[in-house]
Amino acid sequence: MTTTATTAGTYTKAQAKAHDAKLAEATNALRAAMDREDNAANDIHRAAGDKTGYYRGRRRATWGLTLDEAIATARRVADGQVDELDNRAAWNLRNAPQRASAALQAYETARSQVSAARAAVEALDQVWRDNGRWSRFFIVPGGHIHSSTACHTLHVTTQIGWLPELSGESEAEAVAAYGTVLCSQPHCFPTAPVEWTTKAAKPLDPDQCPGSTHYVPDANLRLCSPRGTCPECGHTVSVTSRGNARKHKRP
Ligand SMILES: [Zn+2]
Ligand SMILES: [Zn+2]
Repeated sequence: MTTTATTAGTYTKAQAKAHDAKLAEATNALRAAMDREDNAANDIHRAAGDKTGYYRGRRRATWGLTLDEAIATARRVADGQVDELDNRAAWNLRNAPQRASAALQAYETARSQVSAARAAVEALDQVWRDNGRWSRFFIVPGGHIHSSTACHTLHVTTQIGWLPELSGESEAEAVAAYGTVLCSQPHCFPTAPVEWTTKAAKPLDPDQCPGSTHYVPDANLRLCSPRGTCPECGHTVSVTSRGNARKHKRP
């Protein structure tokens, strides 16, 4: 776990950091292009007179048409067949063909930008595979750090931040820079001691009563704001729904 001058492969740390800074930029560009593609797809649905609703028992509002159906309808509308829209978009029938063709055009543009951006990301990522797969660190909201964007604890929607300045560095360097916030999943940082991960015991605040977060035997959970007597300090403290004392100061 000592810091060496170069990474395992042919790239030096400086090269790894510079490369990942480029890759982080390319990844952001890809995300932005994907957002534009989503927006353009929504415009196509609108241009096709589609409406959102809770279709087929879905819990989230979705469009009524599939994207392919919306594209097919929008193409007919762009060709002037505004009767496709029946009454749904009658308020704007006059501009409907222009709106439909603008939306279709924007979608095509966004799609080619997405594939170009994706190819750029893949090419840069291949450099990492070919040059020793140096260490990488990613930070997520809340400040936890992962070793890859593929960690299964991450949701698709999680905003992932690259930390290219740590590329090629050891876990110890990451902890020195960001604190003991490494992901505690065994596959994420297999060699990191638990004290460096989010499982590390939190340093106890000297002002905090040691009864904090511990079970309160006489807790009354039926109260509107449940509380009980902290066995450590003897004060009435508020408790969680499981009867554990909330954090409180020493008296
Ligand atoms: Zn992780
Ligand atoms: Zn207490």
